[in-house]
Amino acid sequence: MRCTLCKTTLEKQIDDKFWQCPSCDAFVMHNEHWLNEEDEKARYDTHNNDILDPGYRKFVSPISESILNDFTPEHLGLDYGCGPGPVITVVLRESNYQIDLFDPYYQPDYGFLDKQYDYIFSCEVFEHFYEPKKEIEKLVGLLKPGGKLYVMTHLYDPEVEVEFPNWYYKKDPTHVFIYTKKTMQFIAQKFKLKLEKIEGRLLVFGKGLIN
Ligand SMILES: [Zn+2]
Repeated sequence: MRCTLCKTTLEKQIDDKFWQCPSCDAFVMHNEHWLNEEDEKARYDTHNNDILDPGYRKFVSPISESILNDFTPEHLGLDYGCGPGPVITVVLRESNYQIDLFDPYYQPDYGFLDKQYDYIFSCEVFEHFYEPKKEIEKLVGLLKPGGKLYVMTHLYDPEVEVEFPNWYYKKDPTHVFIYTKKTMQFIAQKFKLKLEKIEGRLLVFGKGLIN
């Protein structure tokens, strides 16, 4: 199998399901372990991101607060992979922000593909990408020059976390692609983005005015 981000042939198997890419440093679940749509949807249905839950609002606040700080209600945003409870969108709409929603299971409205966005956010979604190269190319194409992409995912840091095979985050069967800081730097370089911030689970990428 090749890496689904950088297409390098995967040769280093880490555990029963994951391989590590020598080029972009990501951990890639072998495609023979990917869930079918029905099982994947059933798994997502158990993610109860209750939009009224203050704990979940706090969890996503690195994204919502960054957007409230960086943009205004005049700008147009996209909640990519919003899931069944689009809590960031709810928080932003309370301040009259304009947000489109997309999720292949819960908001399958593909109209967003014909628009251009000032900012896009994707919270706990990137680790579910079967085709990260295609997904990120698409998102970068939807961003206006000068726009920003906000991502939340748990990066694997071998100096802080337990050994990868025992790490909690990769045990979710829908987490098929795990990033490290190096992977995010690779993405910035490959897609001509500026990696403006890595802070905990939050990453902010900026698209240049000319690229
Ligand atoms: Zn790779």
